[in-house]
Amino acid sequence: MSIQKSIDLFARAQKSIPGGVNSPVRAFKSVGGDPIFMQKAKGAYLYDADGNRYIDYIASWGPLILGHAYEPVVKAIQEKALLSTSFGAPTELEIEMAELIISMVPNVDLIRMVSSGTEACMSAVRLARGYTGKNKIIKFEGCYHGHADSFLVKAGSGLATLNIQTVPGVTAGVAADTLTCAYNDLAAVQQLVEKNKGEVAAIIIEPVAGNMGCVLPEPGFLEGIREICDAENIVFIFDEVMTGFRLAKGGAQEKLNVKADLVTYGKVIGAGMPVGAFGGKREIMECIAPLGSVYQAGTLSGNPLAMIAGYTLLNELKSRAEIYTSLENKTKRLKQGIDEVLKSKKIPYTINQLGSMISIFFTEEKVTDFGGAARSNTTLFNTLFHKLLNSGIYLPPSAFESWFLNDALSEQDIEDTINAIDRSL
Ligand SMILES: *Cc1c(COP(=O)(O)O)cnc(C)c1O
Repeated sequence: MSIQKSIDLFARAQKSIPGGVNSPVRAFKSVGGDPIFMQKAKGAYLYDADGNRYIDYIASWGPLILGHAYEPVVKAIQEKALLSTSFGAPTELEIEMAELIISMVPNVDLIRMVSSGTEACMSAVRLARGYTGKNKIIKFEGCYHGHADSFLVKAGSGLATLNIQTVPGVTAGVAADTLTCAYNDLAAVQQLVEKNKGEVAAIIIEPVAGNMGCVLPEPGFLEGIREICDAENIVFIFDEVMTGFRLAKGGAQEKLNVKADLVTYGKVIGAGMPVGAFGGKREIMECIAPLGSVYQAGTLSGNPLAMIAGYTLLNELKSRAEIYTSLENKTKRLKQGIDEVLKSKKIPYTINQLGSMISIFFTEEKVTDFGGAARSNTTLFNTLFHKLLNSGIYLPPSAFESWFLNDALSEQDIEDTINAIDRSL
């Protein structure tokens, strides 16, 4: 297939945009080659500038759980746009959105809308610090919580992809307040909390990690952190930007039955529009301005187009619970198919999967943390990535990213993908 137009566009993009992209992983640096420029998408298919079709396993990195250009969402946005694109004053739709979210997810009494996952996580940490009066936070190696300064310490995929260790521009002071441990290492969390007794405001985690590839919490890990947080007055923040409304209607909290104090959302919550949110226990959320003195604001927060897109999608997910079963069945079939292919070719591999999140690691060890993910054979992943791309299948362009299935994928798409993987390896 020809990708000449993408090649030309990338050359042109680099003259006016740093690296030619507005978010680093899009540049294909880790897998090599030129990024594909997209023109349109419908359902499970992406169409590039040259008119090539791809089966999509990114879904815009998660949001488009029912596929691209989902008609009810597109119609709702069109109708809303005629009534103005923004007011900078409250609207009834924002109440409806808040009520809908609270009716879907556990342990959220109050919720505040923002415009990205980064903003949601950054605000949740500020709130946790304001609420507890403490400064330090604990995060896990390989987890990504957006690009706010305090999170750019051992921060998963985007940085791992570019092999960035420390980030210029983040002061030593800020970095010193972020403590890190390995995912799934409960003893290390306990030790960090002991060593920093009375200083830890929050523990933030991806309850199912997707930014070092898909890595699942071991049984007891999240429950153990929950106990530590209760004992030490630490705010337990679930970053559900990726897992929220994807693993279940109530996200990872529902799927894994562990309770968070604060939860952050993004991606699916905006149906492809720029939306994030943070919410949780009333007592903590009441510390936010204008009720409390922890300041947080946004000119376009609760934007009507963003709200109607998210509201329409979430409503659908709430009323059609079978979507989650359907998504999980498709993902399990994909897993089973890849299992058979890799076994027959005697290639060492591990597949991690939960709900509609899945990754293949080319290693025979079990992958339970970033170290394990990093020890996998990424060269083989890169080869597979390019062969699949040439066969019209679009995977995340990094070995350190979860794949996201969308419900527009047909059984035939899944079979075609398995067959293409068979041919590629
Ligand atoms: C994508 C992501 C973010 C950041 O969200 P943006 O909307 O890109 O700012 C934060 N946390 C997790 C877990 C994510 O996957």
